[in-house]
Amino acid sequence: MPTHDDLERLRHRIAPLEMSPEEFRAAGHELVDLIASFLGSLRERPVTPGETPEQVRSVLGTSALPEQATPARTLLNETAGLLFDHSLHIGHPRFFGYITSSAAPIGALADLLAAAVNPNVGAWNLSPAASEIEALAVRWMAEMIGYAPDCGGLFVSGGNTANSVGFLAARRSRLGAGVRAQGVGVTAGRPRVYCSAETHTWVEKAADHYGIGTDGIRWIPTDEQMRMDVAALRAQIRSDEAAGDRPFLVIGTAGSTGVGAVDALPELAQICREHDLWFHVDAAYGGLAAGQPDAPPDLAGLALADSVAIDPHKWLYSPLEAGCALVRNPRDLVDTFSYHPSYYKFDEATRENGINYYAYGPQNSRGFRALKVWLMLRQVGRQGFARMIADDIRLTAHLFRLVQAHPEFQAFTCNLSIATFRYVPVGVEPGSTAAEAYLNRLNEALLGRLQQGGEAFLSNALVGGRYLLRTCIVNFRTSLEDVEALPGIIARQGRAIDAGMRPADLGSEQKAG
Ligand SMILES: *Cc1c(COP(=O)(O)O)cnc(C)c1O
Repeated sequence: MPTHDDLERLRHRIAPLEMSPEEFRAAGHELVDLIASFLGSLRERPVTPGETPEQVRSVLGTSALPEQATPARTLLNETAGLLFDHSLHIGHPRFFGYITSSAAPIGALADLLAAAVNPNVGAWNLSPAASEIEALAVRWMAEMIGYAPDCGGLFVSGGNTANSVGFLAARRSRLGAGVRAQGVGVTAGRPRVYCSAETHTWVEKAADHYGIGTDGIRWIPTDEQMRMDVAALRAQIRSDEAAGDRPFLVIGTAGSTGVGAVDALPELAQICREHDLWFHVDAAYGGLAAGQPDAPPDLAGLALADSVAIDPHKWLYSPLEAGCALVRNPRDLVDTFSYHPSYYKFDEATRENGINYYAYGPQNSRGFRALKVWLMLRQVGRQGFARMIADDIRLTAHLFRLVQAHPEFQAFTCNLSIATFRYVPVGVEPGSTAAEAYLNRLNEALLGRLQQGGEAFLSNALVGGRYLLRTCIVNFRTSLEDVEALPGIIARQGRAIDAGMRPADLGSEQKAG
């Protein structure tokens, strides 16, 4: 039983977590000031401090769960400094690593606003304005990639989840309603998924988790440009059909993670029509380049897909996390995810009552990821994005020309905003087994040094057994100066590593003069 004192205290309850408006204002202003200075100082900072887990743990200090309170303002100031000094900065102009973008500053403010209002965008009546904003932002995302704006769709955590939504919609639509209750074992014939050997690992997770099994994936080989071999796809589907298997899904990739290759989407769509298969496109990376003058025309085939995954936290420069799943027919999403029979009265549900997003995707309670995307699209408009994406592509093309012209580099691929090349020191002639093995080891060691060094951050790709350096620019802060500095930085580190690592029988720099 609560005592009289308990009740008196609760009459004007002041909870430990509550902050008065004055306290919030003071702490918030200070934090925003710190963030503004941090963003202004990015270029002067190392891309990464290159610390070990041990070092980072020692900075964090005590790991004991606190018993007592600490003022919010103290914590926020302290933690801002900690994060600024001990993070890898994806927003740094010389971050050329994975396909993960500089984050738009307005996105950070939008996330703050979303968290402050904290609508639950699982149900319309818990998030009236937020649900409507999400519906609008989904529609705009579709327009950005040339997809039908009346499609269904929702924001999810990223590309993996967005692709999984398409996968599940395909499974329900093509394997039938029975799979929801009885599992995929109910289908006659083994379910088969087709995708290129370059497809991102999400497809293995999806095949595994959703009952198809990774052995159900048909990995179609790629041509010399790393695009799915369309003739091989046709042949595989025919032979599987003849064997009594159950093909149901073809996955095209619009911008492969490795080298940015875009599959022949219109042809894949045609094959899907002929065989009544679901056509999903993983456009997590390349989707937003659709319509760019320098982008592959095959991106126009996005419009033909039954479902598409795009990733605003890649080429829309949104802060993590924001993925977006689009499905041509909104009913397919409801059929896949809804367990509430009333939502089968679909048109009524969307038009009159608003969308309940829990019936559209895997989540129940949902955050307001759409806000940052909606605000970013309004802040710079379609034209602003077109310019930033085109500039990323231009800078990549320029970097590729620089490494082609440089005597110590061998250039390989340049697609969208990904370039691949390797460091080849003077005196080493590529081609022989020994030289290739050495170049692989050398470039791997070089990448390790670059990733720790903080001058510039790159990643790698494997093309035809060769270990390559890989740059990806989805970074509105990268300028010509950064691109022009890069070959010199890599060559300097490359020479230093080569000097200590080259086997005697591969010749020497001196001999090569
Ligand atoms: C990045 C990427 C993914 C995964 O997206 P996440 O946002 O990291 O989950 C899937 N497919 C492709 C082609 C990608 O580039």
